[in-house]
Amino acid sequence: PICYTKPKAKQFEYRFSLEAKSRKPSTLKTAARYLKTPGLISLGGGLPSPEYFPFEHLDIKVPTAPGFSPEATRESGTVLRAGKHDIQEGTSTYDLEIALNYGQATGAAPLLRFVTEHTEIIHSPPYSDWQCTLTVGSTYAWDTALRVFCERGDYILMEEYTFVSAAETAFPLGIKVAGIPMDEQGLIPEAMDKILSDWDVAARGARKPHVLYTIPTGQNPTGATQSAERRHAVYKVAQKHDLIIVEDEPYYFLQMQPYTSGDVSPVPPPSTHEEFINSLLPSFLSMDTDGRVVRLESFSKVISPGSRVGWVVASEQIIERFIRNFEVSSQNPSGIAQIALFKLLDEHWGHSGYLDWLINLRMSYTARRDSLVHACEKHLPREVAHWEAPAAGMFHWVSIDWRKHPGIAAGKTRSDIEEEIFLSAVNGGVLLSRGSWFKPDRDTAEEKMFFRATFAAASSEKIDEAISRFAQCLRAQFGL
Ligand code: PMP
Ligand code: PLP
Repeated sequence: PICYTKPKAKQFEYRFSLEAKSRKPSTLKTAARYLKTPGLISLGGGLPSPEYFPFEHLDIKVPTAPGFSPEATRESGTVLRAGKHDIQEGTSTYDLEIALNYGQATGAAPLLRFVTEHTEIIHSPPYSDWQCTLTVGSTYAWDTALRVFCERGDYILMEEYTFVSAAETAFPLGIKVAGIPMDEQGLIPEAMDKILSDWDVAARGARKPHVLYTIPTGQNPTGATQSAERRHAVYKVAQKHDLIIVEDEPYYFLQMQPYTSGDVSPVPPPSTHEEFINSLLPSFLSMDTDGRVVRLESFSKVISPGSRVGWVVASEQIIERFIRNFEVSSQNPSGIAQIALFKLLDEHWGHSGYLDWLINLRMSYTARRDSLVHACEKHLPREVAHWEAPAAGMFHWVSIDWRKHPGIAAGKTRSDIEEEIFLSAVNGGVLLSRGSWFKPDRDTAEEKMFFRATFAAASSEKIDEAISRFAQCLRAQFGL
């Protein structure tokens, strides 16, 4: 979607790692471009003949708007068929013959076009030469981002509590984490500015960080969501210190309706697509006049995690380095996943039906979030437990006043108490995640105590029962 009225992205070659700079185009992938020559008989590539792909067609049954529930899908869903030779037969622009063979590292062109259009509709990046490439999910895209921008020994910036797998992707690459203090809106830009301004190369034994990894919406694990003002402030600090911002946004479309407590009637759903799109918070990508943002997108939380399909959006220069890595590693997402998504998203729903699906998801998560927060209001002892209703995502973060624990007098530490509460909750029949699991900065000590609960998995009744069990455990632990 090159738009010539917008300026081009800044060039960030000086941010690339030695590894990224060393990557050359794959010899064999480069040869593929000659396949377009009309009349050419290829004996050159290593592509097996589709004759030997033992899949003649795939039938997938999917929901038809507005009947999105499993019951409605079983009754009135649509069966989509992907055949082997649909392109030749003129019935589709993508078929099994193509999907099941080797492809380009950007992913299949028809699906790539869909996600590119979707990106334009939702984010409309403010520079002209942005590009997308499909990925096998954000986990791998983040691994690639680290390889593109970092060297062993570097520090990166992360929220002080973060998706622990993202930190565990970085550690074995020799990368350390400087944790940025957070409030109920996520990372604090002034605190990030201070960390960078005060950076002492000798004391840290590392150059100043130049990569920020952030989860702006429905942050995992805290559930925090950065407001539009907060995002603008973070972007300013990133400009001041010339950071690359990697925004990992699997929960972007799990932005929910405003929270209302039990006796107030819920806010009605957005009535048009325009109203829905306008209700979404601006992404870093949407304010990225410089081209310093790498946006990681994933179908995991909006379609299914097992599809293993996502995409990255960034400037052409940065995306090219990602493609060079994918060519010789993941190559592209599974053809079966790509064709299933293409049939559903492009040929069946289209952009409009996909937005209907996302609105439906928003309302479903709102109901789940409300059940969990209502259960907390009903059961948890406010003497020791504190929380904010999350505005997005699937996590609820409960802070515990551990200093009121009677074990302190007996010499127990913060960590002992966290473990004791965790284990007594498990014995009481409820599993929560311990806050300290999500702390990536190994240079500073943990002072607070949190537990993370998700409302994505259990039913409303189970959620209520689970929170009531946790409440009992807290009462027993704190002698209330
Ligand atoms: N190893 C060898 C020796 C190969 O010839 C090929 C495919 N040409 C591969 C690996 C790539 O395998 P895959 O498609 O499973 O990534
Ligand atoms: N990023 C964050 C912040 C997550 O919470 C998760 C899943 O839990 C992922 C990435 C994983 O995404 P993907 O399934 O696309 O690899």
